[in-house]
Amino acid sequence: MGKRILIVGGVAGGASVAARARRLDESAEIIMFEKGPDVSFSNCCLPNHLSGMIENSEDLILMNPTKFKKQYNIEARVNSEVTKIHRDEKTIQVKDLKTGEEYKEGYDILVLSPGAKPIVPPIEGADLPHVFTIRNVVDIDQFNRYVQSGRVKDIAVIGGGFIGVEVAENLKLSNAGFHVTLVEALDQIMAPFDYDMAQILHKEMMDNGVNLILGDGIAKVKENHIELASGKKISAQAVVMAIGVRPETTLAKKAGLAIGETGGILVDHNYRTSDKNIYAVGDAIEVYNKLTHSKSRLALAGPAQRQARAAADHIYGIPHRNTGVIGSSCVKIFDKNAASTGLNEKTAKKAGIQYDFVYIIPGDKVGLMPENSPLHLKLLYEVPTGKIIGAQAIGKGDAAKRMDVIATMIMMGGTLEDLKELELCYAPAFNTAKDPVNHAALVALNILNGVYKQVPVYRVRELVENNAFIVDVREREEYEAGHLINAINIPLSELRQRVNEIPKDVPVYLHCRSSQRSYNALLALQHMGYENVYNISGSYLGICYYEYFNDQMNDREKIVTEYNFH
Ligand code: FAD
Repeated sequence: MGKRILIVGGVAGGASVAARARRLDESAEIIMFEKGPDVSFSNCCLPNHLSGMIENSEDLILMNPTKFKKQYNIEARVNSEVTKIHRDEKTIQVKDLKTGEEYKEGYDILVLSPGAKPIVPPIEGADLPHVFTIRNVVDIDQFNRYVQSGRVKDIAVIGGGFIGVEVAENLKLSNAGFHVTLVEALDQIMAPFDYDMAQILHKEMMDNGVNLILGDGIAKVKENHIELASGKKISAQAVVMAIGVRPETTLAKKAGLAIGETGGILVDHNYRTSDKNIYAVGDAIEVYNKLTHSKSRLALAGPAQRQARAAADHIYGIPHRNTGVIGSSCVKIFDKNAASTGLNEKTAKKAGIQYDFVYIIPGDKVGLMPENSPLHLKLLYEVPTGKIIGAQAIGKGDAAKRMDVIATMIMMGGTLEDLKELELCYAPAFNTAKDPVNHAALVALNILNGVYKQVPVYRVRELVENNAFIVDVREREEYEAGHLINAINIPLSELRQRVNEIPKDVPVYLHCRSSQRSYNALLALQHMGYENVYNISGSYLGICYYEYFNDQMNDREKIVTEYNFH
C-alpha cells in the first residue's frame, strides 16, 4: 500500500497536487475534500458567464468526481468540509455538508489548498440578499440568475481589481442594458498598473459605459441603492463585493500551524508548513518575491499550479528549486488587453529599489497591416545596473506576449542589454522587426547611458501651466487637429531651417505623436549645441490618454485643444 495523501480543496492547487501525485505514484491513496459542490472548475472564466460568452455555467466545471475516479483513481469528495486537523494523530475531521455527518480520515501527508475568500466589509446592509461575492460556479450562477431575473437594472461592483473589473465588463457585454457602476476606493483601478497606465484603462471603462467612481468607498448597502463614504448615493438592485481576498487560514490556525507576516500560511521553499507532514499551496500561502526579497501574497492560478507540482514532487523526494515569484498577470478590458509583470513604480519605491522607466507607444504590428494598433509599453529597470525589474503593456494587440517575454527576462535576471539583443520571431502580422520589447530596451539604454533626457506624461500639465517651452514636432495638419495649448509647432521636416526659433537658455521640451520623431529632433538639437532638451515620453498620444479621464471626471481645464487617440 502506498502513501495516503489527503488534500483540502479541490480546485486549482488541490486538483493539481492530486494529479501530479498520481502520476508519480500509482499505489498512493489520494482523496480530495471540497466543501463546495464542484471540483476543478475554471475560477478564471467565471465572469465570462455573465456576458454569455460561456453560456452554460456547467461548462465551467472541467472535471467531476466520477471522471477523477475513473481516469486518475483519485477520490474527490464534494460537499465535504474539513473542519479540523488532529496533528497528533495525523487525522482530519470532515463534515458531510449534505448529511451533517462527521467523520475522521487518517493521512500520511496532508496538503492544504483552501484558497482565499472574498472580503466583505462589515458595513450596514452587507448581508442583504442582493449582495454577492464571486468565488465559484454556484456564486456566479446565483448572481447571474438574480441579475437576469428582470428586477435588476442597476448594478454596483465594489472593487477595481481583476475580479471587479471583469465582472463589470462582462455585465456590460451581456447586452442586458445594465447600468454598471464600479466603485474603487483608491485613485485608480488595477493595482498592478501604475497610475499613468491605469488612465488608459479608466478611459476604456468609461468609453464602454461603465460608471467609474474612484477615490470613494462603500459605506452602506440599501434595498435599492448604495451609499458611499462621500455620501454619494448610487442606484443598485444588485451589488458585487470584489474588494479583495483573504487567505483561508482558519483550519491552519486552529491546528497551530505557523502563519506568516503577511497573513498567509507560512511554508518553506518546498511548500511544507511548520508541520513536516503538512504542505500548503495556492492563495492561502505566503510566497517569496524574488525582486523585493520579501514575503508577499499572490492570488493567481499559475503560481498555485506550480506550487502544487513542486509540493507533490517534494513528497516524492524530487528536488525542486524555488525561484520565488515576480507577479505576472493579464486582463482583457473591452477592446484593450492589459498585462504586467514584476514591479511597478509603487512597488519598486516601497522596496527601496533605485529605478527609472521608459514609456513608449510603438505600433504592435507593421503599420501596413490592417490590425496594427498602438501598444502602450512601460519598462522599469534598476539604476545603475540596468537589470529589468518590471513592465506593463496595454493595447488592442497582444500585450500579454510582450509581458511574457519580459517576465522571462526578469526570471533569468536579464538586463536592458539582454532585452535589446533578444532575438524574437518577426513577420508583419505579428509585430515589427524591432519588436516593442527590443525597442523599449533601446530607449531605456539611451536614458541609462545619458544619451538624452526625458520627462514623463504626468509632468506635462505642470509644464503647460508654467508655460514651459514646448515644441511639437509633428506635421502641421497633425498639430492643427489637436495640440498642447502652449506648444509651438516646428515639424521635424522644418526643424533645421527654423532652429533659430528655439532658445538655448531655457529648458526645451519636445514631443510628437509617440516620441519617435521628437527623439530624432532632440538628437539633432543636441548635435547643434542644445544642452537643456527633453523628450516627453509617451508624447501626444500618451498625454491625451493620461489627461482624458481626469478631465472628464473633474471638469478641469484641458491642456490640449483636442484629444487625439490615433
Ligand atoms: P481555489 O482554486 O480557490 O480552491 C480552493 C478550494 O478549497 C475552494 O473551492 C474551497 O471551497 C475549498 N475549501 C476551502 N476550505 C475548505 C475546507 N475547509 N474543506 C474543504 N474544502 C475547502 N487567476 C489568474 O491567474 N488569472 C485569472 O484570470 C484569474 N481570474 C479569476 C477570476 C475569478 C472570478 C476568481 C475567483 C479567481 C481568479 N483567479 C485568476 C485566481 C485563481 O483562480 C486562484 O489564484 C486559484 O484558483 C488559487 O488556487 P487555490 O487552489 O489556492 O484555491
